[in-house]
Amino acid sequence: MPDPLILIIDDEESMRDSCSQILLKGRYRVETASDGTAGLEKTRELRPDAVIVDLKMPGISGFEVIEELGRIDPRIMAIVVTGYATVESAVEAMKKGAYDFLPKPFTPEELRMILSRALEHRRVALEAETLRREKQLLEENFITMVSHQLRSPLVAIQQYFEVILSDLAGPVEDKPKDMIRRASERLTGLLHLINDWLDLSRIDQKGLIGKVKPLDLGRILRKLVDFMAPSARQSGITLEWPGDAAAVFEALGDEESLEQVFTNLLSNAVSYNKPGGRVEINLRREPGFIVCEVRDTGIGIAQDHLPFIFDQFYQVSRREGKRGKGSGLGLSIAKKIVEAHAGRIEVSSEPGVGSTFTVRIPASGRAGEGA
Ligand code: ADP
Repeated sequence: MPDPLILIIDDEESMRDSCSQILLKGRYRVETASDGTAGLEKTRELRPDAVIVDLKMPGISGFEVIEELGRIDPRIMAIVVTGYATVESAVEAMKKGAYDFLPKPFTPEELRMILSRALEHRRVALEAETLRREKQLLEENFITMVSHQLRSPLVAIQQYFEVILSDLAGPVEDKPKDMIRRASERLTGLLHLINDWLDLSRIDQKGLIGKVKPLDLGRILRKLVDFMAPSARQSGITLEWPGDAAAVFEALGDEESLEQVFTNLLSNAVSYNKPGGRVEINLRREPGFIVCEVRDTGIGIAQDHLPFIFDQFYQVSRREGKRGKGSGLGLSIAKKIVEAHAGRIEVSSEPGVGSTFTVRIPASGRAGEGA
């Protein structure tokens, strides 16, 4: 690591010289400039670690220099030196991004101390940034690794199982067939888990900022109900939305993510239901929000489990409901997506009676107000 480079910007030659002398005795490289314009030019060219700048100079002021330094590279530490050390000017300099303040006259020790503190601050900030970048890279690589190296072979194995199970590879006796069927079910569970985990990581990574636009939640729910009702019926569950087909519930959201939220809620409402049970959807407006309730007549959730069901991998019982296919990630995915929309998700439940999940998504424009 080269010694830190310090740029001194001061119109007084004696100040530039004395500061240089002090710093050159330590492990610093020093550059000087006699006004703000020349100082900023040197900053762009040399990218110093810290800049010591006089507040009062002819031409562009120290305040302007500090502001521009922040635009060039916010990691450059600016230390302000001035003869008229008032609290106001100190506060103003700090507001504009200066790290610290040195009133004239100052001792060599004071200058060295402030500078070494500033450089330590910079070192820690740079280190944190490097770590953050490395972590992000690691996560990105991990996601790619999981989706390609782990998921692809599992999908291939499952396809082989399907070929065997449908007797396309020749007849298979009942006992080995049954074992393969169970292996295939476990594999389906594992693939669900990997897909859910990938979804969760992608939400963490990209967020939803910039993706939201006005959309009709009524249309989305109708589409999902049409899609899911037939399989619910096969399990003896009635899934329907008796809402007015013409009503529009315009929210601000990302369609794909919100579809995922309601798919997870509806599929739970079906899976954790009782034979002959029902799933009801209710959409309404509240000031600023579109509110959607998914209510089921299922097994319910005991009070002591309720605070944890949005946690990752939390499952009340692996025996009930999805029978090994659930990952325990569906609700945490739903919560992450809803919160990324600046919305809220809540649950109320009574064991043996049923559960209600309530989702609030910000309404688009004035659509949700006035109700
Ligand atoms: P899973 O993949 O296990 O369904 P979720 O995150 O979707 O994971 O749900 C977490 C747990 O919350 C489930 O395992 C289940 O015990 C409980 N749960 C979720 N929805 C309902 C519901 N509608 N009725 C009863 N229990 C539910």
